Amino acid sequence: MKTEIETIPGETPGIAYELIVHHLSGSDPAAPRVYIQSALHADERPGVAVMHYLIPMLEHAEAEGRLLGSLTLVPHANPIGAAQHLFSNHMGRFSGATRVNFNRDFPVPGKDGVRHLDNASSATFAERRLKSRLLELADGCPIVLDLHCDDEGVQYLYVPEILWPEMSDLAACLDAEAALLWDKGSDRAFEEAAFEQMRASAADGDLSGHCVTTVELRGQIDVDAQTGLKDAEGIYRFLQARGVVAGDAAAPDLRGGFVGKPIRHVDMIEAPAGGTILFHAKPGDRVEAGQLIAEIVVNPGFKDGCVEVRAPQGGFVLTRRARRFIRMGDNLFKIIGDEALVAGYEGALED
Ligand SMILES: [Zn+2]
Repeated sequence: MKTEIETIPGETPGIAYELIVHHLSGSDPAAPRVYIQSALHADERPGVAVMHYLIPMLEHAEAEGRLLGSLTLVPHANPIGAAQHLFSNHMGRFSGATRVNFNRDFPVPGKDGVRHLDNASSATFAERRLKSRLLELADGCPIVLDLHCDDEGVQYLYVPEILWPEMSDLAACLDAEAALLWDKGSDRAFEEAAFEQMRASAADGDLSGHCVTTVELRGQIDVDAQTGLKDAEGIYRFLQARGVVAGDAAAPDLRGGFVGKPIRHVDMIEAPAGGTILFHAKPGDRVEAGQLIAEIVVNPGFKDGCVEVRAPQGGFVLTRRARRFIRMGDNLFKIIGDEALVAGYEGALED
């Protein structure tokens, strides 16, 4: 494995960021190339734990000649966001410089199929140069994994609908509980930008064998040795199934109760009042229409001081808010409803 430390100059004198990039060399030029990054939202750490276990596994395979495809790994994909603290609180989702979500607004190919990237000396914000560089590192890789997490949630994947069910091997190897299938973009998230570039460069538009996804590795605090190792082993098994690493190519079956639905099925349940949340349902639960899923305590101790939240339809609880204080209108749950919503989401679910 070779490690390179790239420098991203900041916008003002005396500021620079380091991007650590690992390269592993496969022995078979015909095997798929792979790009994996974690912590693009810099406050999402489950993917970093996965990298901690995955990197030695792949190094070992490389040393023993079992690595067929080449890999590029970026465990700290967002050094700019990692450095953003305000009054001791870390803020890794939005850029403090531009207020843009670090996982939105990536450059995508235009109608002419041409993509315009910034380079190291482009006179623009560091985060724009970082975004271009991350995409460049993923170029030419038919397998691209972007490791994220939700607030509190089960493990689930965002998948371009056209790559489903072929990508169910990844969901099965990871033992994921759900997949959201999208076909209308996501405000140019990294996954969408990587996918659009794949599509623009695919011969005859053939995307078979391709895999690009945002993996939501459960919730923000689901970071521990056991879970990190399990997910690293899952990705390793997937890499074997896709012929990147030599070994048993058989992927397991999807777990029982797996939910794979178009994104239009996602019910974003918003808080009807501000206050303190008392949850009555958790990620992974099956809920029925009308079931009490949360109460918001507005006026503690009074009979009418609490607002009930009920499931609008039957479905699968995908995520819920981690903090127990909420504003009116903030997202409380994501539920994958049994029925598609008439005015359902087609792009990114959140800012
Ligand atoms: Zn994220």
